[in-house]
Amino acid sequence: MEKYDVLIIGAGVTGTAVARELSRYQLKIGVLEREEDVCCGTSKANSAIVHAGYDAEPGTLKAKMNVRGNQLIGELAQELDFPFRRNGSLVLCLDEKQYPALQKLYEKGIANGVKELRILSREEVLEMEPNVTDQVVAALYAPTGGIVCPFHMTIAFAENACENGVTFHFNTEVKTIFRKQVADAAESPEQTDIEKMYLPHDTGTWQLVTSSGIFEAKCIINAAGIYADYFHNMVSEKKIHITPRKGEYCLLDKTAGTHVDHTIFALPGKFGKGVLVTPTVHGNLLIGPTATDIENKEGINTTREGLDEVLTKSTASVKNIPTRQVITSFAGLRAHSDGDDFIIEEAVKDFIDCAGIESPGLSSAPAIGEMVAEILRKKYALQEKDNFISTRKGMKDFQKMTLEERNEQIRHNPAYGNIICRCEMVTEGEIMDAIHRPLGARSLDGIKRRTRAGMGRCQAGFCSPRTMEILARELQIPIEEITKSGRNSQIIKGTNKSSFVDTFKEENRI
Ligand SMILES: Cc1cc2nc3c(=O)[nH]c(=O)nc-3n(C[C@H](O)[C@H](O)[C@H](O)COP(=O)(O)OP(=O)(O)OC[C@H]3O[C@@H](n4cnc5c(N)ncnc54)[C@H](O)[C@@H]3O)c2cc1C
Repeated sequence: MEKYDVLIIGAGVTGTAVARELSRYQLKIGVLEREEDVCCGTSKANSAIVHAGYDAEPGTLKAKMNVRGNQLIGELAQELDFPFRRNGSLVLCLDEKQYPALQKLYEKGIANGVKELRILSREEVLEMEPNVTDQVVAALYAPTGGIVCPFHMTIAFAENACENGVTFHFNTEVKTIFRKQVADAAESPEQTDIEKMYLPHDTGTWQLVTSSGIFEAKCIINAAGIYADYFHNMVSEKKIHITPRKGEYCLLDKTAGTHVDHTIFALPGKFGKGVLVTPTVHGNLLIGPTATDIENKEGINTTREGLDEVLTKSTASVKNIPTRQVITSFAGLRAHSDGDDFIIEEAVKDFIDCAGIESPGLSSAPAIGEMVAEILRKKYALQEKDNFISTRKGMKDFQKMTLEERNEQIRHNPAYGNIICRCEMVTEGEIMDAIHRPLGARSLDGIKRRTRAGMGRCQAGFCSPRTMEILARELQIPIEEITKSGRNSQIIKGTNKSSFVDTFKEENRI
């Protein structure tokens, strides 16, 4: 049985942000994640907007965490080296009758402490964004709004936490949690553990039964996304309920990426912020999401109706969207709590909830990390480490290098001269780096999230077999074991396994 002071359930942006903040302190910390990598839940499928913070009701945790998180992300993007751009956002008012709603949004923003908010005239909006619909009458402008790469931000938190001593257990699904019994406590004194424990492990200690055995922790952080109600309700009398609220998107090719420069929102409705049109930090155009409550916590399929709705509603805000340039579609599930706010508190003794973390959860993650660390610091009188590493270097991005830098990089490591993904211009060197970094990639999707190989126009049609070969070679495993996204997602199944890659390469002349 492995013992920890703190175990975090879930390696999404919330769990990893908490892990990174807690890794400042003298604690033995573990993260339990049911998938094969970080960022496999909602954190990988969202709008990637760092919201300014005018949307949430003043006084709520959502409002507080959003505004603080927005501020922190700017600093963290520098410290931890992940892509982030303050492109600013516009909420459009398309009818004079809607003006009071726009004004109300402005006032909420001021109450929440959002800086530099302004209401723009029709002329100002059109000058800023010529592709916005001609029906626009005014807009709320938030210069502090931004766009981020959710994969890179989550991976950056996780890598930095890992470097500061946090242990990640992947393919480890938590099944049940219970309090340790008195008899067990006497039998297994904490001194027997190889690594030092900093908090007392007593009869109040938790046991977590997982698909990879039993773990023990003094304190649990529940960051299980849409499953956070499951764990909360396992330990608390006061039940909570989380509804998966599905959002569907279309992602457009980079040729459409400059269609707008700011993030363009419609006025928010009952189910949230509505369909937006935004550039991404990688230069694509993203349109969506829908908002539909569903029962199935695994229901991340897209639907004809959902994507039609995205196409129709986005064109109401922005004209001439080149919808023929859609390269893929996807869906994510918001963890909507019945109370309509984040739940960040000690639910029962030594069990801290980070539940109901729907939008703006990505924007809020650093602030949630800070808040949870502060709860634990006070509760257990935590001591800071003197060797905390606050910075991290991200991956080299060959595409962004100058010609001189590229040549220098290839001289240093010739693998950077071998282009694997043509659409995104990703090199063998970058893929090897993605595999050998702390918490390195183990699957095609893991490589995709770290390097963008397979994210471009052909959506991995060309590079998959070559990436699989590199994965197999570097991990020293048979190619048949390479998966798309862990579990049973092997790409090569059936009898003709060995010839698959050769045939594919021959057919595609690569
Ligand atoms: C459509 C949509 C649009 C959004 N847009 C934005 C936006 O633009 N800006 C913004 O700020 N926010 C946005 N959000 C919200 C944001 O994406 C989420 O708040 C955030 O990603 C939640 O992160 P999380 O770590 O709490 O959850 P997740 O990323 O879901 O992580 C939870 C993790 O727990 C793991 N887990 C679950 N059960 C178990 C178990 N039994 N054992 C072990 N591990 C388990 C899961 O595998 C998962 O990795 C959006 C969300 C959606 C769905």
